[in-house]
Amino acid sequence: MIDFDADGVDCRLSLVGATPGRPRLLLVDDDPTSLRLAAGILDADYALRVATCGGDALALIVDRPELILLDHHLPDIDGLEVCRRLKADPRSANIPVIFITGNQDPVLEAAALEAGAVDFVTKPYSTAVLRARVRTHIALKRKTDLLAQLAWHDGLTGVANRRTFDQRFQQEWRLAQRHQTPLSLVMIDADHFKAINDDFGHQAGDQCLRDIARCVATQLRRPGDLIARYGGEEFVLLLPKTDAAGASHVAEAIRVAVEGAFARAADAGGDAPRLTVSGGCATHTPAVGDAPEVLLQLADRNLYRAKAAGRNRVEPPPTTAGPTPAPW
Ligand code: GH3
Ligand code: MG
Ligand code: MG
Repeated sequence: MIDFDADGVDCRLSLVGATPGRPRLLLVDDDPTSLRLAAGILDADYALRVATCGGDALALIVDRPELILLDHHLPDIDGLEVCRRLKADPRSANIPVIFITGNQDPVLEAAALEAGAVDFVTKPYSTAVLRARVRTHIALKRKTDLLAQLAWHDGLTGVANRRTFDQRFQQEWRLAQRHQTPLSLVMIDADHFKAINDDFGHQAGDQCLRDIARCVATQLRRPGDLIARYGGEEFVLLLPKTDAAGASHVAEAIRVAVEGAFARAADAGGDAPRLTVSGGCATHTPAVGDAPEVLLQLADRNLYRAKAAGRNRVEPPPTTAGPTPAPW
């Protein structure tokens, strides 16, 4: 619990009762009395963080609060502007903001809602009303997050689904076009997966797909990289600002990681399949008028080559002698 009676309030971001599973709230207020009051009402049910200025509030979105209670009068940036900036930042645009202010002016209320706040509470408020409003907005936020999770992720493996991939691919293609940077795709396909299902059963096959997804995800180092389930036993990687040599290197690291993980499990005993994957890479710096589908077709063609050449390999293979020339 924050010591609010200390010399002023600890302006920098104190964590109050951060228990995993409790909804995370960010209280933004420069007035110690108001903070103490709100914290006293909410502390038992929520993991609270506190910011006493707009700058700190914006910095604290890295902690992914699920709801922000925002005062209007702040010493640096006013609440309306903080709210606008939160809504303009993709990292915080989906965090609901409840405005809390002593100002009962309907013009301010309209401005707060216009700036993106979901609710407007005036001081003095009743304990029951604050609790109820916070509970309602947290419940809505969690439902929205769940729907987003279902809409954008693959239900079996938890990685991004085809819809997410299609959307991100279009975005990254346009960015690569604008900045003239290389964009890479890698198609990863499990080898002889039908035989795994036949020999070990579909449930074991499903578990293999989860394990492959986890193996692939651990090999992706850059925040902009995406792994998605493309369909069946096929995954696709989207690697922005990555040249052909980099894509082959990532694909090969994944191939080695998958082969090693399944081999270790099989060697450890039990009825575990040995499983490998093949990869097809494609890289292009798109010019105006180029169609993104061509990159997919090239990755597919290289995957086919890897399969035809014996599987458990990537095409084009990584070279140690220097960057691979772009295959376009
Ligand atoms: P190749 O090395 O040429 O890729 O051979 P393969 O057997 O992996 O390829 P094929 O396309 O013949 O078979 C793919 C198999 O993947 C058949 C299908 O039942 C299985 N599969 C696709 N989706 C799932 C899934 O969600 N769970 C399980 N358990 N199996 C799946
Ligand atoms: Mg396959
Ligand atoms: Mg396949």
